[in-house]
Amino acid sequence: MDAIAATNWQDRAARLQFRTQAFIDGAYVPAASGKSFDNISPRDGKVLTQVAECDAEDVNRAVSAARRTFESGVWRDQHPRARKAVLLKLARLMEEHADELALLETLDMGKPIRDSRSIDIPLSIRCVQYYAEAIDKLYDQVGPSGPDAMSLILREPLGVIGVVVPWNFPLMMAVWKVAPALATGNSVVLKPAEQSPLTAIRLGELAVEAGVPPGVLNVVPGFGETAGQAIGRHMDVDMLAFTGSTEVGKYFMRYSGESNLKRVSLECGGKTPHIIMPDAADLDKAAANAAGGIFFNQGEVCNAGSRLLVHESIKDEFLEKVIHHSRRWTPGDPLDPTTNMGAMVDARQHERVLSYIGKGKAEGASLRLGGSAARADTGGYYIEPTLFDGVDSSMTIAREEIFGPVLSTLTFKTTEEAFKIANDTIYGLASAIWTRDISTAMKAARTIKAGSVWINCFDAGDITTPFGGFKQSGFGRDKSLHALEKYTDLKSVWIDLS
Ligand code: NAD
Repeated sequence: MDAIAATNWQDRAARLQFRTQAFIDGAYVPAASGKSFDNISPRDGKVLTQVAECDAEDVNRAVSAARRTFESGVWRDQHPRARKAVLLKLARLMEEHADELALLETLDMGKPIRDSRSIDIPLSIRCVQYYAEAIDKLYDQVGPSGPDAMSLILREPLGVIGVVVPWNFPLMMAVWKVAPALATGNSVVLKPAEQSPLTAIRLGELAVEAGVPPGVLNVVPGFGETAGQAIGRHMDVDMLAFTGSTEVGKYFMRYSGESNLKRVSLECGGKTPHIIMPDAADLDKAAANAAGGIFFNQGEVCNAGSRLLVHESIKDEFLEKVIHHSRRWTPGDPLDPTTNMGAMVDARQHERVLSYIGKGKAEGASLRLGGSAARADTGGYYIEPTLFDGVDSSMTIAREEIFGPVLSTLTFKTTEEAFKIANDTIYGLASAIWTRDISTAMKAARTIKAGSVWINCFDAGDITTPFGGFKQSGFGRDKSLHALEKYTDLKSVWIDLS
């Protein structure tokens, strides 16, 4: 038995301590208003704890701590080797507290403990390590200015970075932004989603323990309309890095325009096409990926393969295989290490997904699997893996992001038609194609407007590959060295040598 399976997570959950206050200027503090909100666990619908409800006043305090530390140079002017050592220590502390962080994630947002312990937390640690390692390996440039001058092209940190993130991979979405922002010498104000603030709150404390100077990383839990908007409109925030829905991404563009023109980077929604060509080498493997690509993390994945595009000649055979693999995905107690599907993050999301299933049926799609709530006796927010056949591009379930375990199957006759359907969406986050034909694969890579194209695999990649969207999936890239660009800007220095 592996270590995850051997652990009694229910026992450990019962003994878990929660940090629930804002983390500002290196210390836990209550919200200035004294208010807090219920943090409900989607596992059983019960109140887990109460969390400080930050608003504009707390954001002001956090931004002023971030500004003070940035201008003092206490972090950005440290030797790159020293900053690297601090962030590597943060990664080590996260590793030491990996069980605790995984439990917080699972209790807070309902994902299986097996996933939080073997995917979310390890990938978050690797992300911090990666940007730590980059710090003392980046060079600035010397321009081709000729013999009478020397030009230097320097990259400088921007200052105070606001980070606003969603609840589906709470810690991972946070560190995808916090780690490169800190690596480049900025100070940060992080607002986690109100559904899942616990790991972000703990991250602030671990960062200070690792040696990040107090005030460089601040965490303000609270609601979007209050704390999130206050960061978006703050006159002293230089850049806003957001992951979340396209709708809220648009708000941040507006906040920026109506305040100080802060730079904005947006990682928004998706409606990923997953294309199965009849010449795919291994249809069974493709079918397992089609199921995993929508049911992993309860379908609450921005790049979930929610539109399955199958060539009409193999549709019936292929769908049988997908249904076979889908039956392996079963909602269960997120704290049970054998569970592979947990709960929807909250009652609202549960309702939202069920209403999309209702729309699918009403608009004439044929329900082949699932379609109902599950485990209602637990008080938690579970939904069966759900599969629709006979979907066409005009149906709501093919157009809107459901963000739940609902797969829509569409068919096509020609490769061109497959690409046309793939691109028939406002989104452009990711795409996948299974084929043995190299030119079909490369044409897909060229033709599909999406930030990621997976060929004969799904949701593959690692911290070295940029991730982000085209079209209304947003702009700016997380992960890889390219992510560092958005937290810095170029400064030209021209030295006259004549
Ligand atoms: P959301 O947009 O509702 O919320 C995201 C964050 O924005 C939260 O912290 C929330 O409090 C805040 N917010 C909400 N309303 C706000 C407002 N009016 N002003 C300022 N801030 C506000 O998204 P969600 O429901 O938390 O997450 C699901 C969405 O996130 C999906 O659309 C999904 O595709 C997207 N997502 C994208 C990626 C990616 O990398 N592209 C990754 C994960 C999730």
